[in-house]
This record gives sequence, C-alpha cells and structure tokens, in this order.
Amino acid sequence: MSDCIFCKIAAGEIPSTCLYEDDTVFAFRDINPQAPVHFLVIPKEHIASMNDVNAENAAVAAHCLEVIGGIAEKEGLTGGYRVISNCGPDAGQTVPHLHFHVLGGKPLGEKII
Ligand code: AMP
Ligand code: ZN
Repeated sequence: MSDCIFCKIAAGEIPSTCLYEDDTVFAFRDINPQAPVHFLVIPKEHIASMNDVNAENAAVAAHCLEVIGGIAEKEGLTGGYRVISNCGPDAGQTVPHLHFHVLGGKPLGEKII
C-alpha cells in the first residue's frame, strides 16, 4: 500500500534499524522503545491487522512468528520476552500494518493477561 509507513520501511524507502530480513518478513527496532530491547516484526506484504489474516496470507503471518526466536536470541533475550500485536482502536493500534512487538531485556513487570 503506497501510503503505509511500514510498507515503506519494508521496501527500504524509509530508514530503519533492520535486525532481520528475508523474502517475506522484515524486523526492525521500534523508534520509541518501551523496553531495553523492542523490535517489530512485520510481513513485507500489506496486511492491515490481525483481522486481515486469512487462508491466503496465514503462512506469511506465521513466518513473522517463526523468525522471532532467532532474532531474540541474537538480541540477547535469554531471560525471555513478550510478543504483542495490537489490533484495532481498543488495543491502541496506531499503524495499520500487521506487526508483532517483541519486548525484553528486563523483567517486564505487570501483565495484562
Ligand atoms: P502500534 O501502536 O501497536 O500500532 O505500534 C506501532 C509502533 O510503531 C509504535 O511502537 C511506534 O513507536 C512504532 N513506529 C512508528 N513509526 C516508526 C518508525 N518509523 N520506525 C520504527 N518504529 C516506528
Ligand atoms: Zn503496509
């Protein structure tokens, strides 16, 4: 999608600190980190949110999850980490391109669930 900031990041049109990239997935540091390590994993194709994961694109969405462990290991998250995907306004999704937040590097404290 031409006006989507994360599509532009995945295409290299907007700079980011890339941690991982392959044919279908891109991972980069969050610009406003909420933990010592905070990165985002996104599909390169535009999927607006978890609501838009379907039979055609589920493999790409699953691949986002598949790469997280390896990136977390490289980032030194030996104590664990949290994965969050905000979907829609009640969850506070601000960028309408599916993304998985990965947070760690310290005890993360209070949990919502
Ligand atoms: P969400 O609120 O779940 O939609 O998360 C969007 C995330 O994208 C926020 O944590 C932002 O800090 C992050 N973000 C927005 N623009 C950029 C950017 N240009 N580079 C890296 N992270 C970004
Ligand atoms: Zn997009």
